[in-house]
Amino acid sequence: MQYDVTVIGSGPGGYVAAIRCAQLGLKTAIIEKYSTLGGTCLNVGCIPSKALLDSSEHFANALHTFKEHGIEINVPTVNLGQMIKRKGEVVKASVDGINYLMRKNKIDVYQGMGSFIDKNTLKITPESGEEKTIQTGKVIIATGSKPSTLPSVPVDKKRIITSTEALNMTEVPKNLILIGGGVIGLELGSVYARLGAKVSVIEYTDTIIPTMDRALGKELQKVLTKIGFTFYFNHKVTGAVNSGNEVTVKAEDPSGNVIDFKGDYCILAVGRKPYTDKLDLDKVGVKVDERGKIVVNDHLETAIPGIYAIGDVIKGAMLAHKAEEEGTYVAETIAGQKPHINYKLIPGVVYTWPEVAGVGSTEEELKAEGKAYKVGSFPFKASGRARASMDLDGFVKVLADKNTDEILGVHMIGPRAADMIAEAVVAMEFRASAEDISRMSHAHPTYTEAMKEACLAATENRALHI
Ligand code: FAD
Ligand code: NAD
Repeated sequence: MQYDVTVIGSGPGGYVAAIRCAQLGLKTAIIEKYSTLGGTCLNVGCIPSKALLDSSEHFANALHTFKEHGIEINVPTVNLGQMIKRKGEVVKASVDGINYLMRKNKIDVYQGMGSFIDKNTLKITPESGEEKTIQTGKVIIATGSKPSTLPSVPVDKKRIITSTEALNMTEVPKNLILIGGGVIGLELGSVYARLGAKVSVIEYTDTIIPTMDRALGKELQKVLTKIGFTFYFNHKVTGAVNSGNEVTVKAEDPSGNVIDFKGDYCILAVGRKPYTDKLDLDKVGVKVDERGKIVVNDHLETAIPGIYAIGDVIKGAMLAHKAEEEGTYVAETIAGQKPHINYKLIPGVVYTWPEVAGVGSTEEELKAEGKAYKVGSFPFKASGRARASMDLDGFVKVLADKNTDEILGVHMIGPRAADMIAEAVVAMEFRASAEDISRMSHAHPTYTEAMKEACLAATENRALHI
């Protein structure tokens, strides 16, 4: 078969690239090594983790807040099997949706491992059955990432596990050890803390979610401590052993003492690494950098004309929506358009409760740049909407240029922050000033009023409700 474009990998980067190529009239194929489409995000990432986060949050509410709302129920118990089953159904509905989208857009789907024979010829090796080769004008590599490992922590997928196994537990851990206080650790740790686990986080740096505005990590730490998390910062993990029913993780504390952490499960979540195994990149001369990421130019094209790469397998944030933007970008570039991505405005979200979200510069980045800025902040405890739903933790923090009032960054922790950050993205894309947002009507009562109030606070300190 001869295609205009072939996409390797069907995660949010790959399937979006394929759809956009097809929309633009290009004859398109997609190759996926797994039996289902959707990549990490739909199968073992964003979607299943959010399904379990929602279920466990319902349980925590039934246990802790129903009574105050005036709802009397017997003490609820966890049916983990049902939670995992529902999660599976959510995943299935999502991956079936991608099959439908491929059919609708007349994209040919090949199941099997894709690899290069040359720049215009790809081999597809299915787990069973015959190998195939196809001809293609352009190639988009969207092969994603897999969990990073530590040499001292042997993942056995039984008690020393990664996020993938943590999405399919058969029992709620009693004492869960998390290596890494990043997004995966805190989200999956939240699931099991809400279901009753004591969670110990061993983190190498001096804060959780170290890449986000520092104020967010500080507030999130306070909230998570209340639900059963304990944090061990500046600790260096030196080993982990599964002795049958127990895991022992050894870590050096800041004074150099070696401490034994004991638990029934340990999740290793210290980042993810690009996945390019078996692509045979050397056959075409596509280069990877020292961290294994495919090297691309500003147009996401590799050094080989006509071969592009997107998503987790290249530089930048490892986020589904970043991969999607890049998928669209490359498809439109191939079709001769001149698209643009504003990387500064890709929001980051952590789906704990309260949720955490940020976009633009952090306060630490503005300080390092020597930029003159002002800060406006508004706490959810002063929000009528948050009082009604008993979600009083957190705040919205707006950073604006001291001279022009242009919004430079918005960082929030609070109810529905994951959805609320979209307003900040729109505002910043249109280069709004804090005063612009503060003069726009925000429906009352909504959580978004906190964004307006934080903008008012940044504009001559004139928040109304505090
Ligand atoms: P992937 O989704 O990794 O897809 C790559 C695909 O390529 C895979 O299906 C793989 O099988 C296939 N493949 C690889 N090599 C070959 C080959 N040679 N031939 C054929 N197929 C191949 N991001 C968010 O934005 N929001 C979230 O809430 C979120 N939650 C997450 C939760 C967890 C637990 C994890 C692990 C990740 C989460 N992420 C989240 C990150 C997100 O999943 C990734 O950023 C996103 O999936 C990257 O998309 P991608 O298309 O680059 O690659
Ligand atoms: P991460 O980069 O978010 O966090 C890893 C954490 O581990 C960091 O805090 C880091 O300092 C720490 N760490 C690194 N080495 C360590 C060591 N030896 N000992 C102790 N701590 C160590 O990575 P992650 O949580 O594994 O997530 C992987 C990727 O998946 C991230 O890039 C993230 O963007 C993406 N993801 C996104 C979401 C979301 O958008 N809500 C959810 C899950 C995952």
